[in-house]
Amino acid sequence: MNTNRQHIIVIGAGPAGLEAAATLGAAGYPVTLLEKENHTGGKLKSLHQLFPGFRPAYEVQNYLDGRLEINVAQVITNADVISVTTENGKHKVILADGQSMNGDIVLIASGFQVFNAEKKEEYGYGIYENVITSPDLEAKLKSCDPLTSANGTTPRKIAFIHCVGSRDQKAGNVHCSRVCCITGVKQAIEVKMQLPGAEIFNFYMDLRMFGQNFEELYIEAQQKWGITFIRGRVSEIGENMDGTLQLKAEDTLSGRPMKMNFDLVVLLVGIVPARQTLAIGKSAGLALTSGDFLAASDAQLSPNKTTTDGIFITGTCREPLSIAETLTDARAASVSIIQYLNERQKKSECI
Ligand SMILES: Cc1cc2nc3c(=O)[nH]c(=O)nc-3n(C[C@H](O)[C@H](O)[C@H](O)COP(=O)(O)OP(=O)(O)OC[C@H]3O[C@@H](n4cnc5c(N)ncnc54)[C@H](O)[C@@H]3O)c2cc1C
Ligand code: SF4
Repeated sequence: MNTNRQHIIVIGAGPAGLEAAATLGAAGYPVTLLEKENHTGGKLKSLHQLFPGFRPAYEVQNYLDGRLEINVAQVITNADVISVTTENGKHKVILADGQSMNGDIVLIASGFQVFNAEKKEEYGYGIYENVITSPDLEAKLKSCDPLTSANGTTPRKIAFIHCVGSRDQKAGNVHCSRVCCITGVKQAIEVKMQLPGAEIFNFYMDLRMFGQNFEELYIEAQQKWGITFIRGRVSEIGENMDGTLQLKAEDTLSGRPMKMNFDLVVLLVGIVPARQTLAIGKSAGLALTSGDFLAASDAQLSPNKTTTDGIFITGTCREPLSIAETLTDARAASVSIIQYLNERQKKSECI
């Protein structure tokens, strides 16, 4: 048990916050985990099967909740953090209901939000019922209901559009969201498993299959499942009289414009900084990256430390990450905090 009873407050009980809180709790530190929703898990809670191995998302959630139960005494849900201030080395975390809490260390693990697809008016999300986003499709797959078009019929031709709201200067996001290419491959296969007769097309700028077994899954999507990948920029989606969708694109390999009809279009929306996290960052005096994620004091050497002493960051509040990467990052943040506290303790003993 750690005798140096430094109180650590973790903001956000998604994969990052859960793993970090449990790791720090297991190391003997008193941890308070604050979550604004009435449940833990963050975005993991709404996922069906995880890339690249189609593992049920609830398995990872059960693992994280199990570790939390053993290692963290204080988990407060419906605790919506609005700001963090610092005075005399102590941090004050303020909640939306006016309550506050003091901590020696604050770890921000408040995650991301997905790009609002309505901002890309040319794709018609929120206007055409058969244009949906990747989180919408994930929810449909999780429900286990048969996948249908808006009028209840079985879709025969489905398109996935990559890079919606990412790598797009006009949308205000230059960064790559990293997880949406492989999500597009995974979801296309899941749809094909459910609807073997469907034709599926993925429209991409270029594919970023950076992770272990990602490239293999992409090859499997083409060879085993017959999914077609078109290197093409989609310029516009319009609705036909019968509710099907006409998609206009330029095939960037052949240089030719193309028009195709689809029953359903899935927009692979990107990972963007959450507005509330930005407000917390601002209140705590934190620097931001060029893409407005929370910035580290040194991106190479201490990616989880911020420029404000005693305030740390982990998970997708600092950059787009997969769940495996998020968990690794949470453990790294925990080690970074423990080192920081040990050094501070040594310094105080020398004075
Ligand atoms: C469509 C889609 C599919 C994906 N599929 C996969 C997949 O198959 N495999 C994979 O590895 N990754 C996948 N990902 C990525 C995965 O969602 C992230 O890696 C993971 O959710 C990151 O965890 P996190 O804890 O950083 O953030 P989040 O999951 O966003 O969790 C953040 C938590 O903080 C809480 N919070 C936020 N603000 C506050 C506040 N102010 N006060 C208190 N609490 C707050 C939130 O409510 C939430 O619980 C997918 C992402 C998307 C968009
Ligand atoms: S991961 Fe793929 S779809 Fe997502 S932003 Fe990067 S290149 Fe585009």
